[in-house]
Amino acid sequence: MNATTERETAEYRLTAMDRCDSCGAQAYIAAEVNGTEMLFCAHHGRKYEEKLRAVATSWHDETARLIEA
Ligand SMILES: [Zn+2]
Repeated sequence: MNATTERETAEYRLTAMDRCDSCGAQAYIAAEVNGTEMLFCAHHGRKYEEKLRAVATSWHDETARLIEA
């Protein structure tokens, strides 16, 4: 059991069809900014997280899938 205190969603919806807007890798993070959904891989999601969270109206993070078995 992981002691995860902050879990915004347990529902995964990103698929292999969803690609990072920056590099084209599989997306694991989706951020909605001004009504537009932006997708990022784990690397770029982390890289831009601080700036994006300040402006994003929603934040969807599926990076937990990368560390779960
Ligand atoms: Zn990327």
